[in-house]
Amino acid sequence: MNDAILNKVQMLAEQNITDIENFKKDGRKVVGLYCLYSPVELVVAANGIPLTLCGTKNDPITVAEEKLPRNLCPLIKSSYGFALSGTCPFFNFADFIVADTTCDGKKKMFELMQEIKPVHVLQLPQNQEKSSSLPLFRGEVEKMKSLIEHETKVEITDDKIKKAISLMNRERTAKKDLMDLAKLTPSPITGTELITILFKTGFFANKEKGIEMLKEITSEYIKIHEEKKGPYNEKTKRILLTGVPVGLGSDKVIRIVEEAGGSIVCFENCSGYKQAFTVNEEEDPITALAKQYLEIPCSVMSPNQKRFDLLDEMIEGFSVDGIIDLTWQACHTYNIEAFKIAEVFQKEKRIPLLHLETDYSETDSEQLRVRIEAFLEMI
Ligand code: SF4
Ligand code: SF4
Repeated sequence: MNDAILNKVQMLAEQNITDIENFKKDGRKVVGLYCLYSPVELVVAANGIPLTLCGTKNDPITVAEEKLPRNLCPLIKSSYGFALSGTCPFFNFADFIVADTTCDGKKKMFELMQEIKPVHVLQLPQNQEKSSSLPLFRGEVEKMKSLIEHETKVEITDDKIKKAISLMNRERTAKKDLMDLAKLTPSPITGTELITILFKTGFFANKEKGIEMLKEITSEYIKIHEEKKGPYNEKTKRILLTGVPVGLGSDKVIRIVEEAGGSIVCFENCSGYKQAFTVNEEEDPITALAKQYLEIPCSVMSPNQKRFDLLDEMIEGFSVDGIIDLTWQACHTYNIEAFKIAEVFQKEKRIPLLHLETDYSETDSEQLRVRIEAFLEMI
C-alpha cells in the first residue's frame, strides 16, 4: 500500500466533510443518489452537491433486517440500514434523494426510505432500445431536472447543464486515466488502492479539487512505475473483477486476491470502468445525458450485450489473465447473468473465470481464500 498517497486522499476526505458543512451553510443543497443511471450533471447544474450513498459496509445490516427480509442483497440492506440508523454522515447531509427503479429489491426499499427522507424515484427502462426506451428515459431525465429545480429553487438552464457535463467529463476522464494506470505491466497500483481512491473521491463536494487530486495521484503512480518501485512484477497474475459494485467495507474479495499474490487490474463494475464514459458536449444536453446514461451496461437491463462488449475491450486493454465474476447473495440479475458470462468468456473464449457469490460478512472469508488461491494457481 502506498501510504503517502493514501494519507493524502484521507486528508482531503476529512477536509471534504468541512467543505460540505460550509456549502450547506451557504444554502447549497445535497442530493443523495443510489445508482449510476441518475445523471449527476443535473445536480451540479443546480449548484447542488451530489453524493453517492450506496451502502458498502456490513455494520448497518442488522438494523435494516428489522424491516427488510434477510434474504436480500447486502447492498440494499446496508444502504437502508445506514438511513434507518442515521450512522452515515453523507446520508444525514442529504436534503433529498433521487433514486431509480433498477432491481426489484432496491425499488421496493425506496418506498420504505421515503418515510425517512424525501425520495424521488425515476422510472428506468428495462432495455436500451433507442426507439422505445430512449424517449421514455429522456422524459425521466426531464422530470429529474424539474424536481431538482423545485427542491433547490435554482433554474437549470441548458447552458448550466452543458457546463456541468463538461466538468463531469473532466472528472470521469481523470478517473479513467487513474484506472488506466493498471494497463501498464506490471501495474503500479493495487486494486485496493484504486478502489480506495475512487470510493473516497466519489464524495468530494469540490469537484475541481477532486480532479486536481486525481491528476496528481496519477502522475505519482507513473513515477512509481518509471522507477520500478511498484508492488508487482511481470509474473503477477492480472485479474479483472466484474459483477456487482464494491467499495470500502465490501472489498474482501479484492483483499483476498491481493493477499494470495494476484493483482486486480480493473473493475468492470459501476465502482470502476462502467463510469468511465463521456457525455456528448455538442448536442441538446438533456438528450445527450439520456443517451449516454441509458448506455450503462448493468445487469438490470435485458438484454445486456454492452456488458459483454465492455468486458471484451477491458480483457484486451488490461492484458487480463483471469476474470472473477462477483455476485452479492440474492442479486438475481447479476447471479443469472453469471451463467452467460461463464458461457461466453470461460467456455467460448477460454479465459479462466471464477464466479463467487458472497455477502458483506467475513464468515466465508476462509472458503473464498481457498477458492481464490486455487484459481490463481490454475491460471
Ligand atoms: S449495479 Fe446497476 S443498478 Fe446497481 S448501482 Fe450500479 S448501475 Fe445502478
Ligand atoms: S447488487 Fe444486484 S440486487 Fe443489489 S442493488 Fe445492485 S442490482 Fe440490486
